[in-house]
Amino acid sequence: AWGVAMVTAVAVRLQSQRHEVDQLLKPLHLAPDARQRVQALLQREMERGLRHETHAQASTRMLPTYVRATPDGSERGDFLALDLGGTNFRVLLVQLRSREAGGICMVSEIYSIPPEVAQGPGSQLFDHIVECIMDFQTKQGLRGRTLPLGFTFSFPCQQKSLDQGILLNWTKGFTASGCEGKDVVELLREAVRRKNQFDLDVVAIVNDTVGTMMSCGYDDPNCEVGLIVGTGTNACYMEELRNVEVVPGAEGRMCINMEWGAFGDNGCLDEFFTCFDAQVDRASLNPGKQRFEKLISGMYLGEIVRMVLVELVEKRLLFQGRPCPALQTPGIFPTKFLSTIESDGLALRQVSAVLRNLGLAASVEDALLVRKVCQVVSLRAGQLCGAALAAVAEKIRDNRGLAQLAVTVGVDGTLYKLHPHFSQHVQQTVKELAPRCTVTFLQSEDGSGKGAALVAAVACRVAQSRAA
Ligand code: BGC
Ligand code: MG
Repeated sequence: AWGVAMVTAVAVRLQSQRHEVDQLLKPLHLAPDARQRVQALLQREMERGLRHETHAQASTRMLPTYVRATPDGSERGDFLALDLGGTNFRVLLVQLRSREAGGICMVSEIYSIPPEVAQGPGSQLFDHIVECIMDFQTKQGLRGRTLPLGFTFSFPCQQKSLDQGILLNWTKGFTASGCEGKDVVELLREAVRRKNQFDLDVVAIVNDTVGTMMSCGYDDPNCEVGLIVGTGTNACYMEELRNVEVVPGAEGRMCINMEWGAFGDNGCLDEFFTCFDAQVDRASLNPGKQRFEKLISGMYLGEIVRMVLVELVEKRLLFQGRPCPALQTPGIFPTKFLSTIESDGLALRQVSAVLRNLGLAASVEDALLVRKVCQVVSLRAGQLCGAALAAVAEKIRDNRGLAQLAVTVGVDGTLYKLHPHFSQHVQQTVKELAPRCTVTFLQSEDGSGKGAALVAAVACRVAQSRAA
């Protein structure tokens, strides 16, 4: 009888623990009506961002890109492309040939941008970029040739033309001083002048979402949306020019860089933020900014999980309540661990091994709970991203007065591509919230570089036809 009492006591304790865990994770669940609300809220912010009078109050900036068409396959020539915005900086040589002549051919080099350069004086950042370009030109035998250049610059920029972009603010891991409010193309040209050795012919500055849409558009003319879920997150899409009040003209379309990472910075998503999100935001390089991005993208998901684990340890629900100093270290739980821990077929034993490598002595029960936390956090991220995408698809359908819309989304970014379930969460949610849209997802290969070259090619063609 005594044994039975023991077992019952243990069972009761386990049950109450499970209840406590559920309570703690509950705010991270998005019910169907919450997903709908996110979609509706974004729809409203999109409208407000496009309108003259409300533009300044909208949290999604809805920035005109001066890209007026997706590629038609006739783009030709040799281009230099730069890609700055994630963890690495890349320089590319992109050769656009006819399909018979081999199609698109690219060579590239990856250069790292150390945090002290990304977060130091702006002049030093641009000097570093120019040195990388010179190194690339030397390696590729391009010294002395001035190729038209497309610059993929993955931060919010106010554009008045294709070849000019005023950096509104840095995001992600960048805070280099003296750049915000300045034309990034001009900052690059100044750095080139300081070297006094060569010329650059910058013809276009392109957001990575736009580059991705363009590169996928080269293969699929239905591709009118670009999506990035990597270090940061954002989307662009083809909007009717008549709806873009900040750009004159009413004929045709223009690609809009939504900057949806900032969705909610005006408080409209406050009901969805949990205490874990607030902690991640406070410890970030840009508190109060990019609130939507901080719920979704690779730079932050691992940190959200870490905050939840800290709370579980404090409540003595994890690691048997043993204090766990390793968990106090920011960044100890990178987002790629979510991808590993959530992999299908990974035994709990292997999950505990991953955790042990972090210095976390995890039992099988602990591993189970950590995996659950990862799943909850990445499910929410995927659903939020899907709800936002549903708003975009519906906007395009509505613009065109269609009963049913078929649209392709060009996608890039490590989280979308490498996480075992994230893309399904996104697609599932889009299906649920935009039933009148048939959305196809096309992963881009090297999209931002290729896309920048395609934008540059279109710019050159337009310039030539004007000169003729
Ligand atoms: C930037 C966007 C970019 C996105 C994905 C965000 O932080 O503001 O411009 O497209 O990251 O790289
Ligand atoms: Mg990128």
